[in-house]
Amino acid sequence: AEQTIPAALGAAADRFGDHPAYVEDGEIVTFLELLRRVRRAARAYVALGLRPGDRVCVWAPNSVDWVVAALATSYAGGVLVPLNSRYTAHEVADVVERTAARLVVVADGFLGRTQLADLRATGEHPSVLALVDLADLGGLDMSDVTTADVDAIAESVSPDDVADILFTSGTTGRSKGAMSAHRQTVGVARAWGELGGVTGEDRYLALNPFFHSFGYKVGIVTGLVTGATLYPLATFDLELTMRLVEQERITVLPGAPTIYQSLLAAPGREQRDLSSLRLAVTGAAVVPVVLVERMRQPAPEGLGFDQVVTAFGMTEAVVATMARAGDPADLVASTCGRAIPGMEARIDAPSGEGAGELLLRGDYVMLGYLDDEEATAAAIDADGWLHTGDVGTLDEAGNLRITDRLKDMYISGGFNVYPAEVEQLLARLEGVADVAVVGVPDERMGEVGAAYVVRAAGPAGEALTADDVVAWCKERLANFKVPRRVAFLDALPRNLSGKVLKTELRSQPRDQPE
Ligand code: ATP
Ligand code: MG
Repeated sequence: AEQTIPAALGAAADRFGDHPAYVEDGEIVTFLELLRRVRRAARAYVALGLRPGDRVCVWAPNSVDWVVAALATSYAGGVLVPLNSRYTAHEVADVVERTAARLVVVADGFLGRTQLADLRATGEHPSVLALVDLADLGGLDMSDVTTADVDAIAESVSPDDVADILFTSGTTGRSKGAMSAHRQTVGVARAWGELGGVTGEDRYLALNPFFHSFGYKVGIVTGLVTGATLYPLATFDLELTMRLVEQERITVLPGAPTIYQSLLAAPGREQRDLSSLRLAVTGAAVVPVVLVERMRQPAPEGLGFDQVVTAFGMTEAVVATMARAGDPADLVASTCGRAIPGMEARIDAPSGEGAGELLLRGDYVMLGYLDDEEATAAAIDADGWLHTGDVGTLDEAGNLRITDRLKDMYISGGFNVYPAEVEQLLARLEGVADVAVVGVPDERMGEVGAAYVVRAAGPAGEALTADDVVAWCKERLANFKVPRRVAFLDALPRNLSGKVLKTELRSQPRDQPE
């Protein structure tokens, strides 16, 4: 099987030819057409001066143009650096500098043309050869470079060459750039597709952001190796999502847990025909057991997915574990499945059993962090184990349960507290719609728990007080785990993959109930 992005694209054009690779605003782009557009853009990149190994930043919302800009990077032998669409111009400048990017491809409106010009003119980014407006991609001058030229470059790309540098979400600190080789990116995309049973018959709603490994690797690249048709969505729009599912008979809809929560709560959802939905793949944050059950439940109560699969993923290891089709429902609901073929998972528990740090090893563990040998050595030990910073357990069959992140753990009066345990308990208190717990400084205890609560709509939520929150925990938890501070918020700050931004929470004001 093909082991580079250009080879996978070429094979897709051969195998799936006139089959739709993408559908966007009703317009079909076949696999052949995709290859044609990618070749043109790759010729333009080379004409602009891009050479094998050079980095290309792509900063735009999900679209077919994004896909072309990204695949053309690989086709021209370059290294793809997808940028978070929520980045500010300042953050973009930071990554451009850290990656010494040669080309920066930007969506119209993300950065005004004057700012684009500034980025280059200030001379602060001497690496940058050109800033390309995504909308101009098809119209760039490429006359000096022939299709044969770029085909030759594409063929010379080796499976061991770096394919992409994806930046971590920055939940626990400064984002780090994780580098992967072509064989890894293509391999994991194929493994994920096989585990999910994805085929050319599938219609895949691509609402996971393309800059994230869930959108790029197991989205775009999985589409290439399976022949599935992708429907890119620039932003999550509930009505549009339901309409696409209905009209286009969408079969695969991967997403953060919050996506399915919103779908379940969507007004009028019961009247919609969502029966084409076959496969949901979720993860990236703790997945509530009840949510998985309702996703499987037939309409109108549930979403009617045939198969709901949970997975554990991180930028440094893409998808490491995944549930399997046919796994019992309760297992899927309560775990993130087991290591995918090519990967191993192990728990580094202080006492040798029970919960501990999750370690991962295998084909899809990144090559390392960009220009940071120290951080790489701290993350990947001499035996090749990636230290994830997540805390969990593995059962006898190898199913993973994530219980917390090491960085979220705090120490209250000398005892370790894992916020996830307290959060899960509080989620069951009537009147609580959403909750997150963080450790905050305390003179006497060192740290104490602060619970940030979003009240549920309705009388129970309205009546909920800080004392109720504390009392509920006191009855059910060891004293050191009981939150000492409570704050009510309208919503929890979350990033695009649905993760609560705990650093932001720590700076919010809170009460101290007695
Ligand atoms: P940073 O490393 O920059 O602080 P981040 O770790 O949040 O950011 P990502 O690589 O996008 O950035 O996210 C990976 C993390 O997401 C994992 O380490 C884990 O904490 C969480 N995660 C992923 N899948 C699951 C899951 N199924 N259940 C619970 N947590 C998950
Ligand atoms: Mg991380």
